[in-house]
Amino acid sequence: QDSGIGWNWSNTYGKLPSFLYTRMEPAAVSKPALAVLNAPLAASMGLDASKLGNADGIAELAGNAVPEGADPLAQAYAGHQFGYFNRLGDGRALLLGEHVTPDGRRLDIQLKGAGRTPYSRGGDGRAALGPMLREYIISEAMHGLGIPTTRSLAVAATGQEIVRESYLPGAVLTRIAASHIRVGTFQYAAQWGKTEDVAELAVYTLHRHYPNAGTDGGPALLLLRETIARQAELIAGWMLVGFVHGVMNTDNMAISGETIDYGPCAFLDTYNPDTVFSSIDSEGRYAYRNQPSIAAWNLARFAETLIPLLDNDRETAIEIAQAEIGRFEEQYQQHWLRGMRAKLGLFGSEAGDAELAGRLLDLMSEHKADYTDTFRLLTLGKPEETALSGNPGFAPWLEAWSSRKERQEQSAEDSFELMKQNNPAVIPRNHRVEEALEAAEENGDYSVMERLLAVLAEPFAYTEEQEAYGPPSDGACGRYVTYC
Ligand code: AMP
Ligand code: MG
Ligand code: MG
Repeated sequence: QDSGIGWNWSNTYGKLPSFLYTRMEPAAVSKPALAVLNAPLAASMGLDASKLGNADGIAELAGNAVPEGADPLAQAYAGHQFGYFNRLGDGRALLLGEHVTPDGRRLDIQLKGAGRTPYSRGGDGRAALGPMLREYIISEAMHGLGIPTTRSLAVAATGQEIVRESYLPGAVLTRIAASHIRVGTFQYAAQWGKTEDVAELAVYTLHRHYPNAGTDGGPALLLLRETIARQAELIAGWMLVGFVHGVMNTDNMAISGETIDYGPCAFLDTYNPDTVFSSIDSEGRYAYRNQPSIAAWNLARFAETLIPLLDNDRETAIEIAQAEIGRFEEQYQQHWLRGMRAKLGLFGSEAGDAELAGRLLDLMSEHKADYTDTFRLLTLGKPEETALSGNPGFAPWLEAWSSRKERQEQSAEDSFELMKQNNPAVIPRNHRVEEALEAAEENGDYSVMERLLAVLAEPFAYTEEQEAYGPPSDGACGRYVTYC
């Protein structure tokens, strides 16, 4: 029966070799109820938000009904978790299928928290409301910041408690992604499939995510090259807004170049490149500063899965792969520097630009300046209000910055506009996210979260309301800790 929601299913993943997934239905929950629905996202996907929010729609969002035309399956994947290879898969998620939007985009529709699967290992297949709301907020904030990301269409409460450290309300998040194909998907195919299977997955993924890559060099090389390029840009985007992903395991790196898996992620307040938020990352493997090198490491694991496809001669194939991986660092640096120039209102390029940016970051780190707020105040022409003001190194830096700007032909107004477009006035501050979650979880009051989502949707707007969403007043005291 057509629900009138507007689903336009066109499922292709389930045509890949069957060892890559397990077809199955979501497990029903006792009392489905809508917690949040992303009406603008629904509209942009050609879906009727009001129908998604009625009883039939909620049943689908909770996993109690499967939309006609969907083809639910749990995806198999592997992954290096903190450096150690494991056999994984969707342990608590089901891919409902692919929805093609009116403007022709093919999107994965996934229910996260939809029950146990053959890949659940010891887990219960469920998700708690708090973390799903957190994923909703931060993924939507990332989208607002212009950083490629999976998105959140809805969170449905299940009416069932789940057991964690305590009893928590359960929920199902509807996650929207260009695809859920991960580095770990290729690792799974390479480990437990045949070379032809990896080849088929590579052709499929190249066609799906990089249809304009051409044909020169063959699908495996093109896929590797495009994925590296996209990840270099993505990670630069993270670094430029102070985002710490927190669990950059190879199963959490999407080939599409979207940010995926919002578990222990968080944004920097004070600028300290060694920042780690995750409770389980005791070695700091996924610290802010390590993200580019970890990305390169993950991409090397990806390249390894493609070795048999890159050349018949193994040594030659390895050389080809190494040459491609070797380009990540330079591409990353280019994206980062381009972004830093924009954050500083600099047009064109001068040899000293990287050093100028680096000196500012050093000052910020030395004086525990707030990352976002420092750039926001520089944008507003209020350097004296930053935490750097009065420190001996800052005046010479401001002078060097001014003369760099004077050497460019663009006006001060152009420079200000460039800064405004590249320095968010607001990010999902940890204390603000916590406050929103607390109101929702403890009192069923979603208004705090709605207000937060509204300011995060347009982080470059510099509205008066956004001024209230600045750094925590107690500054750096009290380390913020996140959990998977
Ligand atoms: P993550 O740390 O979120 O990337 O998850 C790593 C793996 O653990 C994935 O295979 C997940 O599907 C699985 N997983 C996480 N939580 C659960 C859960 N509650 N039940 C079953 N599997 C889970
Ligand atoms: Mg994951
Ligand atoms: Mg996770």
